[in-house]
Amino acid sequence: MDTVLSVHNELNVYESAEARFEFAARRLRLEEGLYKYLKYPSKEITLYIPVTLDDGQLEVFTGYRVLHSTVRGPGKGGIRFSPDVTLDEIRALAAWMTWKCAVVNIPFGGAKGGVICDPSKLSPLVLERITRRYTAELSEWLGPERDVPAPDLGTNEQTMAWVMDTYSMHSRQATTAVVTGKPLDLGGSRGRREATGRGCLIVCGKALAKLGMKRESTRVVIQGFGNVGSMSAMLMHHAGYKIVGLADIHGGLYNEKGFDVPAVIDWVCTQGKPLPEFPGGTKLPSQEILFQPCEIVLPAAIENQITSKNAERLQARILCEGANGPTTASADSVLDGKGVFVIPDILANAGGVTVSYFEWVQDRQGFFWRESEVNERLQDVMESSFDAVVQYAGQHRVNNRIAAYMVAIDRVARALKLRGIYA
Ligand code: NAD
Repeated sequence: MDTVLSVHNELNVYESAEARFEFAARRLRLEEGLYKYLKYPSKEITLYIPVTLDDGQLEVFTGYRVLHSTVRGPGKGGIRFSPDVTLDEIRALAAWMTWKCAVVNIPFGGAKGGVICDPSKLSPLVLERITRRYTAELSEWLGPERDVPAPDLGTNEQTMAWVMDTYSMHSRQATTAVVTGKPLDLGGSRGRREATGRGCLIVCGKALAKLGMKRESTRVVIQGFGNVGSMSAMLMHHAGYKIVGLADIHGGLYNEKGFDVPAVIDWVCTQGKPLPEFPGGTKLPSQEILFQPCEIVLPAAIENQITSKNAERLQARILCEGANGPTTASADSVLDGKGVFVIPDILANAGGVTVSYFEWVQDRQGFFWRESEVNERLQDVMESSFDAVVQYAGQHRVNNRIAAYMVAIDRVARALKLRGIYA
């Protein structure tokens, strides 16, 4: 495998995404015109969002929405609230959504949005105003058949409820299918909250089977303890894995005996205490947790955690990317060299968008499924997608990440050819 990808700025996620796309497109011998078409987003918008703060002062927040592709269906992608949001990051995430939806073969394109703000420092009232004004400004862009947002870093079910309500007020009808990841009482899907973590659990199970490893002797380290990290930790703990490392923005904790994950969830999520203060274990900086002894490492926080500078220090046999873009393009070849079995983000964390798709289907039908039905269908999708990627990797002698991109680009390019170019 000759996957040495060249980028100018390793930490620019857009460059990382582009480098992988370019490599995979070349291996597919994608026609030059199609390459150009798929390389650029379809639309992007910058919004300046005026919001009255709690003290009566007016503040203006910057937000973005990028629609990368609607070739296979409406745009689909989360809204992120974070101080580090950039247009380049949102562009990369929007393109990843196109590839992710294609890898798991659901009828969506790709989109992403974000607002530069720190939700931990803003009151619920201010967050609600930001969300509502952001949604109102995008009311012509969004819609069940146009672009369907979902939660991401710094947003949650409540944020999605505000998006649904604001859009519905503008369209003069209750439109639950405009957004996914909503509360159950508002057209949300059973199993959506756990879906991304459950997807990680399923693909890790497949990887263990492929590599002849056993759950009981598999130690797992997870960075990030929000939706994806905490749900992955809980489900893997109940499935018999030993969770030996956990981290969030406040720092990491390593305990070779394994954590009582429900107790940590209670500590962090119910009692609101900092994760590193949980009794038991050795405290470490958050990023360091990734390089501790384990068989599976599951980054589920932010981008650029595994780079060409530190990838050599990874001890895990399996890297399951719960987060989007936790590994830089320049680190890929280091991981290949070490023989790490990578389950790339566009496959590993696709459980979330898959159940979002189920939520959209249920909302449009006005008929809701049992949780076991949701989980069963999710299992089918994740297992067959894993098999398709691994099979492609073997057949084309590329790593799993490039294989996932190839599967996805091939599917989108086929749809594009069938549709043709309008005007
Ligand atoms: P979240 O906001 O619920 O949780 C984020 C977690 O990361 C928190 O524990 C936070 O403390 C931690 N974190 C934030 N900044 C950090 C830093 N600098 N260092 C270490 N930890 C840090 O977000 P989430 O929804 O769990 O999303 C996490 C990642 O998973 C993101 O990359 C997101 O794009 C991706 N993802 C989420 C979903 C989903 O369904 N929520 C689906 C697919 C992918």
